[in-house]
Amino acid sequence: MKFISTRGDAPTLSFEEVILAGLASDGGLYVPESLPTFSKAEIASWAGLSYKELAFKVIHPFIDGEISDDDLTAIIEKAYDSFQHDAIAPLIQTGHNEWVLELFQGPTLAFKDFALQFLGHLLDFILAKRQQKVVVMGATSGDTGSAAIEGCKRCENIDIFILHPHNRVSEVQRRQMTTVIADNVFNIALEGNFDDCQNMVKASFRDQSFLPDGRQLVAVNSINWARIMAQIVYYFYAALALGGPHRAISFSVPTGNFGDIFAGYLAKQMGLPIDQLIIATNSNDILHRCISDNDHSKQGLHQSLSPSMDIMVSSNFERLLFDLYGRQGIEIQRLMSEFESGHMRLSDDALASARTLFSSFRLDDAATLELVAEVYQNAEYLLDPHSAIGVAAARARRSDTSVPMVCLATAHPSKFPEAVDQAAARFPEANLGQAKLPVHMADLFDRQERMTVLPDDIVTVQSFISGKL
Ligand SMILES: *Cc1c(COP(=O)(O)O)cnc(C)c1O
Repeated sequence: MKFISTRGDAPTLSFEEVILAGLASDGGLYVPESLPTFSKAEIASWAGLSYKELAFKVIHPFIDGEISDDDLTAIIEKAYDSFQHDAIAPLIQTGHNEWVLELFQGPTLAFKDFALQFLGHLLDFILAKRQQKVVVMGATSGDTGSAAIEGCKRCENIDIFILHPHNRVSEVQRRQMTTVIADNVFNIALEGNFDDCQNMVKASFRDQSFLPDGRQLVAVNSINWARIMAQIVYYFYAALALGGPHRAISFSVPTGNFGDIFAGYLAKQMGLPIDQLIIATNSNDILHRCISDNDHSKQGLHQSLSPSMDIMVSSNFERLLFDLYGRQGIEIQRLMSEFESGHMRLSDDALASARTLFSSFRLDDAATLELVAEVYQNAEYLLDPHSAIGVAAARARRSDTSVPMVCLATAHPSKFPEAVDQAAARFPEANLGQAKLPVHMADLFDRQERMTVLPDDIVTVQSFISGKL
């Protein structure tokens, strides 16, 4: 399968190349030249497959012979062996025809494990074949860093350096990174904020001359195609469990960078009958404003109780725009340069198509806490703040209660104990109690930590990295 850039002006890449590439040279994002599609009969024949078997069916056509069937099976096997629950992505009923898809059964208790466990093993396989070693470098304000570390820690051909702002991530999030003790894992606590971390990573990608010969940086942020691809699988898995493809299913998705819900859109394009796709945002609501008022403009960043959705711009939205504009790279170049000034308007046609595909909703912190309490009272189910926004959006935007509604639960509530405590304090009648870490993680606070505190100085950080290689 070939991959092309959304801005139409970068070389076409193969599957393996696209996994190593990151951003396209024209500034665009890579997408498949054409999507594989499945007939209803074919999808129906997958009923009863395990998560791993289904992952093979969905991912296989994208790879198109570049990796053998046996090798792909082994990669999938290793990736999802690290999940705690046998179902990998269990469904829990929380209301009439309303379900939560628990995507937090992986090693870091958030849905990013689905993509990053797969990506780590996939990268290691590709690199072994090419006899190449790479350096993964990333900045994190929380979830992505730990999921990337867990994904790469057993990879022989990867050294991983993750920068987090010193003393500015939660203790659970920090410990999930720093208690991974492995020769190829390096946590850097930078004396700065998240933007400083991100700027340092961006500058290092632009000029990689600090690395020894033959080494290159690889990005594992949500623009990496493998991450999107791995996320398509659970839309099929949930739909099949609830009577699809013989009936349509709806999904509500807590959204930040638009990676997760874009995977749902792709599942629909590939033949899965999906009725509604609901974009659920917190007060960082650029996508909700775009769909509801055609207002795709940058606003200041709000710090919310759902920090993994605190974004100003949703980078993967460009991939959808490419389709909405008839896959004309030149149109996307024009739109994106318009957006550089801070604002962009969709054409009437593009907006109309976006509205037939997606509904949207925004929820502030106070309403998020209320929803956490309400669901606990009515279903004895404790949601984390991100997942709560998805459930609230589903309830507000649902158009047909006879269609099963699946709300993606993107994190375990114990990752965000402050939010749960606040909900418990505000709604004592709900008897929320505390969000406990799952048994297999209960000793997180006793584990040994390893990290290096470094000043916000690029020369120091880069020489630390090259010294470890
Ligand atoms: C990353 C993340 C999201 C947002 O997902 P996107 O793919 O960026 O839209 C939502 N919830 C949690 C817990 C996350 O970690």
